[in-house]
Amino acid sequence: MDLGSAMGIGARYGGAMPCRGGYPDDAPGGHQRLYGFGDEPVIMGTPERQVTNRDVTEQFAFMARLLGIAGEDQYRIAAYERAARQIDHLSFPVAGLDEEELTRIPGIGERIARQIREIAATGTFGELIDLQSAIPGSVVELLGVSGVGPKTLHVLYKKLGIRTLDDLEQAVKGHRLRVLSGFGPKKEETIKRGIEQFRKRSNRMTRPQADAVLAGVAAILPDGRYTVAGSYRRGSSTVGRLAIVVAGDRNAVAETLSTAGAVTRENDAVSVSLGGAGVDVRFAEPGRCGTALLCTTGSAGFLERLGQVAAEQGYRITPDGLVERASGQLQEFATEEEVFSFLGMETVPPELREDRGEIELALRHALPDLVDLSDVRGDLHAHTTWSDGRQSLEDVAEAGERRGYEYIVITDHSSKVRAEALAKQQAEIERINRRHDCRLLSGSEVDIRSDGTLGYENRVLADLDLVIASVHSGFSQDRDVLTRRILTAMENKHVDIIGHPTGRLLGQRPAYAVDLERVIAHAATTGTALEINASPHRLDLEDIYIWHAKKEGVKLAAGTDAHRNGEFANMRYGILMARRGWCTPDDILNTLSLSALLEWTS
Ligand SMILES: [Zn+2]
Ligand SMILES: [Zn+2]
Repeated sequence: MDLGSAMGIGARYGGAMPCRGGYPDDAPGGHQRLYGFGDEPVIMGTPERQVTNRDVTEQFAFMARLLGIAGEDQYRIAAYERAARQIDHLSFPVAGLDEEELTRIPGIGERIARQIREIAATGTFGELIDLQSAIPGSVVELLGVSGVGPKTLHVLYKKLGIRTLDDLEQAVKGHRLRVLSGFGPKKEETIKRGIEQFRKRSNRMTRPQADAVLAGVAAILPDGRYTVAGSYRRGSSTVGRLAIVVAGDRNAVAETLSTAGAVTRENDAVSVSLGGAGVDVRFAEPGRCGTALLCTTGSAGFLERLGQVAAEQGYRITPDGLVERASGQLQEFATEEEVFSFLGMETVPPELREDRGEIELALRHALPDLVDLSDVRGDLHAHTTWSDGRQSLEDVAEAGERRGYEYIVITDHSSKVRAEALAKQQAEIERINRRHDCRLLSGSEVDIRSDGTLGYENRVLADLDLVIASVHSGFSQDRDVLTRRILTAMENKHVDIIGHPTGRLLGQRPAYAVDLERVIAHAATTGTALEINASPHRLDLEDIYIWHAKKEGVKLAAGTDAHRNGEFANMRYGILMARRGWCTPDDILNTLSLSALLEWTS
């Protein structure tokens, strides 16, 4: 029996678990699971659910790790570790004690006693939240790499600026760890193996792979009956676990799903295996879909922060609704918009739900007006049969017309089109432009060669409408050398855009060693745009760096790198990335009209 529905609105609510832990997975760059790195997601303590010693222990152990990453005083770290150990051994719940009783427990001082009271009352404590927001989730995630503890991570993060798994992998490859004291070849090898294992464990899907799995869901569940949630909905570049929220009868839906794939049921949770991937199915009554969707979408960090906002107003968020803490009354919401509005906030678009300050802005009704696919007026990166593409110039113009674009820039590879041939291509482009509404522009994706020079001479570049400069060789170069190649290219006044700035191929090839902070700072100086390569196998730049570039006032150029006609539709992935990077239309180069774009490049 479904307890919640049997009791109806306003009944004393004692049912579902709190919101945390409901999200299926998290995005790179976002907050990962917050406590422990074992298999069990830990559900945070809440006032209504008795806070267990385990909850407190987990939080203090996590606090100790965060303090370690932050490079805090060893005594403070040890104090939390000691408190965690002590509480773990107690036979009575600490949440029931007052401050004075708490301080009588060996290893618990006044400050920690206060924090235990705070955990008992709110489910967490302020200092933990503050510290957590000061360290990027992608950094904390690296604790999951064996050989990387808090102390090591502090050095990696503070001294080498390592923020992501890609960063760490490059640093290891470039032997940059060895310059640090205590980092010999042996430690380097351990971390290298740790990264490999970590990658195998994570095993994430590209978005087209996820789409293929979801097509299986669409084939069996009628449209409008379910919503895809999780990191997929948040627009992450890769997806770990898929989750859908279904409005309707649990048994009937599980029955339907079982016709298509193996269904496993465990208590309330149902998951179905389709095309080799698992899809978690969450059920909600239509009147309760708002909070169900919110909780299943995540991210963990976002929900944590939203939980604070709700707690300040006297509510606790659960997948079934908001529970008033004083009375236990359940408030139900059919849509997410209603939940946000109830909490006095603007609706936070899923792509922003990463705890990067969006909740504070939503409370002030000051969220950025994110760029939308319909704002895009053209594509800045396309290949044709003149280089390695499978489409003619004519095909491109037709594709542009079908998409309602004002322009598409032809950017064949400099390595495949000789300078003399480029003049011929320009003549052909002019001829085609007479017949089509979507204007083809004459551009190039010019190589940034291993020695830092460009694939064409300046007089050739000067003749083009738009120039993308990209690294296609010398991937294993030293970080400083590689970074300087890109900086030098940006100094060439003909170069408008740096193509796929990190060179990564999702799931196949990590980024090359490049110091993106230097690249972004230099782009701001030279006025060069950075590409958001919209190919779902690249999605390069990653959202966190888009966000960073935007903050520095750097323009971003969304281009599909289409080699064949169907690939122009990949623009939607690029725009998802842009949205995750907080971009408004003004930040994106190809929201400009044709004339404004030509003015920008000239
Ligand atoms: Zn390229
Ligand atoms: Zn390309």
